[in-house]
Amino acid sequence: MGSVAWLGLWSLFLAGLFPAPPAGFEGARPSASPGAAGKLEGAVRPERVMVVDAHADTTQRVVYQGADFVGGISGSQLDLAKMRAGGIDGQFLSIFVFPKRTPSEEFFSESLRQVRAIQLLVAHSSGRLALARAAREVRANAKRDVASLLLGVEGGHSLGPGPPAAQLGHLRSLAAQGVRYMTLTWTNSNAIGGSSGDSGDGQGLTGFGRQVIDEMEKLGVVVDLSHASDPLFWDAIRHATKPVILSHSSARSLTNVPRNASDAMLRAVARNGGAVCVNYNPGFLDIGFNRAQAPIWARYENLPVDEAWRRVREDSARLPRVPLARVVDHIVHMVDVAGVDHVCLGSDFDGIPTTPLGLDDASRLPTLITALRERGLSEGDLEKILGANTLRVLEASEVL
Ligand SMILES: [Zn+2]
Repeated sequence: MGSVAWLGLWSLFLAGLFPAPPAGFEGARPSASPGAAGKLEGAVRPERVMVVDAHADTTQRVVYQGADFVGGISGSQLDLAKMRAGGIDGQFLSIFVFPKRTPSEEFFSESLRQVRAIQLLVAHSSGRLALARAAREVRANAKRDVASLLLGVEGGHSLGPGPPAAQLGHLRSLAAQGVRYMTLTWTNSNAIGGSSGDSGDGQGLTGFGRQVIDEMEKLGVVVDLSHASDPLFWDAIRHATKPVILSHSSARSLTNVPRNASDAMLRAVARNGGAVCVNYNPGFLDIGFNRAQAPIWARYENLPVDEAWRRVREDSARLPRVPLARVVDHIVHMVDVAGVDHVCLGSDFDGIPTTPLGLDDASRLPTLITALRERGLSEGDLEKILGANTLRVLEASEVL
């Protein structure tokens, strides 16, 4: 890493543009587990680079399998130790109710149960974890060496059931518990609009959906357009007045699947001031892998949820691994199209059956950072992609 890049950051700081005062050069601080940010060692800088991952599904392991996030989860892609080894300061965990697992009349109550499970694990973390709501809390926690967890609802069906007024009330309750984003849909279309994952993929934003977005913006809950149908994406981004996020989507022009963002979408998010966070799912990174995996998903579709997931993981693990370079390809493309201020990380760890080679779990994030650096991204670019962009989008919506 050249010192020129940091000179650039210094001049930003001196110009008053840097967000925080130079409270100790934490980058030069000796650490038992330097992690991703520690890779930037030797630099004299005003503030440690913040690393934020916008999406992981480890919550469901905790809630439905009794997994111990703090003590360690064998075979998982994420837990506290892996998070720390990867240098991740802030991790969004999904609040996700699987419609196949939970009857529709319990969607909202089950969402609250998952929120409470995260609150409980934080309470029992001996101060090593904290729940963060605002971007400044992520930074403050990192400064005292505490990792932050943040809450993102996956799927607007979590607001149900009930008439519109009741569902908006549920949204307010979730926001009060600290939820900072909500994907308008998951793989299932709902009363807000169509999903990219079912027959509602031609459906856009409904009247109720417009009310939901208005309420989200009032509450400081970022509109997340991962999983949205194309018409819903376009309707929602036109309706939104604040920056949106796609918390876990990759680039469609490299891998043509509906879950990824097209170049036109990437440019629209840039105009909106939002960010698209690359998803590490090999099926979204490589069309060959996607095609090879399709029959595996189909084969186990009718098994109980946990059994199907176990089998899909086993069978997918036998497919040829997708190289780490494919993640880099997607990030570089997204930067080329949307600009470096609009790209972020959204691993989808523990929500994806396999990972790219070399990025087996969250502890391997430094390997990705090295690969991005080798592809020519500057330290300033990395700082934005690793966390600053996600924190900026959060901050733009904050009402706290
Ligand atoms: Zn998802």
